[in-house]
Amino acid sequence: MKLEPVTSKRSIRIDDKDARLGGERKSDKALERATAKQVERICDLQRVFYADERYAMLIVLQGRDASGKDGTVRKVFRGVNPQGCAVASFKAPTEHERHHDFLWRIHRQVPERGMIRVFNRSHYEDIIVPRVHELIPKKVWTARYDQINDFERMLSANGVIILKFFLHISRAEQKRRLLERVTDETKNWKFREGDLDDRANWDRFTKAYRGVLANTSTKWAPWYIVPADDDDVRNWLIARTVAETLARLNLRYPKAEPAVLRKWRSRIERAD
Ligand code: ADP
Repeated sequence: MKLEPVTSKRSIRIDDKDARLGGERKSDKALERATAKQVERICDLQRVFYADERYAMLIVLQGRDASGKDGTVRKVFRGVNPQGCAVASFKAPTEHERHHDFLWRIHRQVPERGMIRVFNRSHYEDIIVPRVHELIPKKVWTARYDQINDFERMLSANGVIILKFFLHISRAEQKRRLLERVTDETKNWKFREGDLDDRANWDRFTKAYRGVLANTSTKWAPWYIVPADDDDVRNWLIARTVAETLARLNLRYPKAEPAVLRKWRSRIERAD
C-alpha cells in the first residue's frame, strides 16, 4: 500500500470508513520496523539534499483537531538533522498578520534551498475556517483556490518541492483522542474547548476539506489523503512518501574537481 495523489473528485474518499486501511494490517513490530527504515532513509537523503542546495521541500500537514499533525512531526522527522529541517505552526492570524494578504505570513516561512520545512496547518486554513464559520463572502474564499495554486506553482518553479498531507480521522477516533486529552494528564494541555465547537461543525469541515482537495491538488503540489485513525499506519505512509519523493531527485553530494582536491590535500598536508 502506498499513498497516491488526489487526481480527481472520485479519488477524494474521506468518509469515516476511509480513515483506516482496508485489508490486513501489518503487525505493530513490522510497521515500526518499516517506518524506522523510511525515517532512516529520510535522514540520509536529507543530508545530500542539504549539501546539494538546489531544492527546498515544503510539507503541508492539514487535518482536524487531534488528527495527528504533532505526532507526525515527532515520529517522521525525528531523524532529520535539525540544521536542515524546521516546523512552522500556524494559529489564527494576529492583528498584524490580518493587515496583510493571507499568503504574506506563509511566504515568510517557505524554506530556503537545502531546507525542509513542515507546515503544521497552513494557508489552507484561510479557506477552511472562513468557509465553515462564514467569516468572509464565498467569492473571496473560492478565489483563494486559484491564488494558492498560482502561489504554489511559482514556488515549485523556483525549486520548492511541495507535498501536502490531509490526515483523515473518523468521528469516533477524534472523540477517543479528545477524551484522552482529558484523562491523560500529559495531554491535558492540548485540550481546547474550541475543539468541541469545531467537532460540532464536522460536516461543514468535511465539505470544506472536500473543496480544498478537489481544487488544489496539482501536479506541482499534490494532496495525499492519509488514513490516520491508526498512528503507526499514518507514520509509515507519510514517511514512505517523503522518502520516495527525496529519492526520486536522485541527488549526489557535490564533488570537487580532482585537480582542486589534489591542491587542497597538499595545502592541508603542508599546514601546521
Ligand atoms: P493545533 O490545533 O494546531 O495544535 P491550536 O489548538 O492552537 O493548535 O489551534 C490553532 C487554531 O488556529 C486552529 O483552530 C486553526 O483553525 C486556527 N487557525 C490557523 N490558521 C488560521 C487561519 N488562517 N484563519 C483562522 N484560523 C486559523
